[in-house]
Amino acid sequence: MARSYVREARRRGLGSRRERIGPIVERLVAEHPDAGIALRFRSDIELLVSVMLSAQTTDVNVNRVTDRLFEKYRRPEDYLAVEPEELERDIYATGFFRQKTKSIRGSMRMLLEEFDGRVPHTLPELLRLPGVARKTANVVAAELGHAQGIVVDTHVRRLSQRLGLTRHDDPVKIERDLQRVVPRTDWALLPHLLIWHGRRVCIARSPRCEDCVLAADLCPSAQVVPGG
Ligand code: SF4
Repeated sequence: MARSYVREARRRGLGSRRERIGPIVERLVAEHPDAGIALRFRSDIELLVSVMLSAQTTDVNVNRVTDRLFEKYRRPEDYLAVEPEELERDIYATGFFRQKTKSIRGSMRMLLEEFDGRVPHTLPELLRLPGVARKTANVVAAELGHAQGIVVDTHVRRLSQRLGLTRHDDPVKIERDLQRVVPRTDWALLPHLLIWHGRRVCIARSPRCEDCVLAADLCPSAQVVPGG
């Protein structure tokens, strides 16, 4: 379990999680007005494929690959019309290309067979697609405007811990803690804010607390991390 800043927040008199979450979101929105998904896509299918490709690689890398990929593969049928080896070559640069090819083709097949070729909007349906785990399903649902959970990636996990919003390490438990205090209307937005703040300011090894808008009165680990 990560060092708990939940208690530290209380000790420093910063207020409860529920009291702090509103101002945290407000300040991060002002600080990162451009926070949003960095993947490029033009349709629900492209969104799903992009998110599936983004596992274990950067969004920049995925965009580089999908710029060409999406010219060639436009509909679910297109991913099934080629040999798997051809798709593997086309997504090779994103890494784990064999597994990703299998997942994408399996998902496209299921979309055609069970969802009229469309990407479903609910978490349980998305989770039925081969190779689609909770994080991918949450990202897709949120971008489609139907957030039913909160995406927890490495940045969200680190910042949630540092901000004393959770004392857990396990993404599912962190998500549950966040769901308890974050208003549902912010479920899609919060991960983007934490991810961008995590990349720009609350960096893993060396958080720039001196430049952080949350340091003075909202963050119980200001000037205490790294290492957590
Ligand atoms: S004050 Fe420091 S530890 Fe807290 S969120 Fe800001 S950068 Fe991260």
